Amino acid sequence: MAPVVDLQRSEKLYADDLYEKVRHAIPAIEWPVHAKEIDAIMALKRTRNAVILAHNYQTPEIFHCVADLVGDSLALAREAMTVDADVIVLAGVHFMAETAKLLNPDKTVLIPDLGAGCSLAESIRPEDVRLLRQAYPGVPVVTYVNTSAAVKAESDICCTSGNARAVIESLGVERVIMLPDEYLARNVAADTGVEVIAWKGHCEVHELFSAAEVRELREDYPGVVVLAHPECPPEVIAEADFAGSTAAMAAYVAHNRPARVVLLTECSMSDNVAIQYPELEFVRPCNLCPHMKKITLGNIRRALETMRHEVTIDPALAAPARRAVERMLAVK
Ligand code: SF4
Repeated sequence: MAPVVDLQRSEKLYADDLYEKVRHAIPAIEWPVHAKEIDAIMALKRTRNAVILAHNYQTPEIFHCVADLVGDSLALAREAMTVDADVIVLAGVHFMAETAKLLNPDKTVLIPDLGAGCSLAESIRPEDVRLLRQAYPGVPVVTYVNTSAAVKAESDICCTSGNARAVIESLGVERVIMLPDEYLARNVAADTGVEVIAWKGHCEVHELFSAAEVRELREDYPGVVVLAHPECPPEVIAEADFAGSTAAMAAYVAHNRPARVVLLTECSMSDNVAIQYPELEFVRPCNLCPHMKKITLGNIRRALETMRHEVTIDPALAAPARRAVERMLAVK
């Protein structure tokens, strides 16, 4: 039976303090609706002994108001191993929930919407990896975490945008197969000197940015500092002042405090970083990830009420997939 939550009582818990933190990103008129959901979720987390892991691309009412642990794919993978709870709710997309399950096989992992996929994860199948291995015998397969557990199971080691270079260099080889993001592979190849055999997958959010758009931004917003995610096309990276993972972009803002800055990545990332630095001007060309935006406060609450949708992985795939993720996590 679903736990009962007293919304009337809990409305008093989240008033001015929490709203003060997010008021630059959430209109006051929307807040009462969010506040009720937030209070219900906080009560359910206690009842279920649950934690919520939220990716940087989640909206501020999730990222700043109900998440226990936040970060990019690498941070979430690492944090997932430290979780002391019976239930993990993954506020992100399906491959992230699978990674959390791989690293926490004894915990219940829930994703609030099963349709929260990823264009990169959908671009490649396990049989594609097997064919590549046949075409390039002996060449190690490095797989971006934005893939299914079945594809990870075919791989030697995983990587994220934050550690791709370190992972490739850790192998000590002259040539690797890097899947499935073509642009990340090309951008990493330019950095490492290692020959990279790439796949043709693209992130449907980052591939929309163009070099012409960067030049226009510089004309329209003089002095703007341009930070770009390495899933963007190489010509965008060439125009940017800095390229790095979502965690690296956030760190860049924290250390350099650029007066005017643009983050070429998913929209909510800027919203979430801007909340921390209200004194900085964030220029916001907005490319939304429709998969990330399937996660809402409402379906997080329902996931905790009903314990759906539980993420499970075939044990025959889980062991090799976990090995590829753990091998990545061992790279410093
Ligand atoms: S932003 Fe791109 S890589 Fe991330 S989940 Fe969405 S489609 Fe996948």
